[in-house]
Amino acid sequence: MESPNLADGSDRFEVDPGVRARLQRTLRQAGDGRAVVGHFHSHPTGSAAPSAVDAARAGDEPHLVWVIVPVTPAGAGPPEAWRFDPREGTFRRLAIKTPGSSQFP
Ligand SMILES: [Zn+2]
Repeated sequence: MESPNLADGSDRFEVDPGVRARLQRTLRQAGDGRAVVGHFHSHPTGSAAPSAVDAARAGDEPHLVWVIVPVTPAGAGPPEAWRFDPREGTFRRLAIKTPGSSQFP
């Protein structure tokens, strides 16, 4: 489900809590075990590594997967997936398998 970006400024994002609440209610009512497991956003810096802002916000829900798409003027690069480790205070990179890929990072 797509959310508008509620953050001011072009280098930040904030998911609309109303969109998130509606999604969670829909999934709960479906009763089929689906749940929010993560979210994705892009980095206009061209890096797929989590930013300091991402790290500051990730501790609230360390179970979520953060997928980050690096974007440059030439286009989007391959996404990377991360999960925050609250004990270490840093993100750990996760393997992504996409259709057609046979290798993990
Ligand atoms: Zn970010």
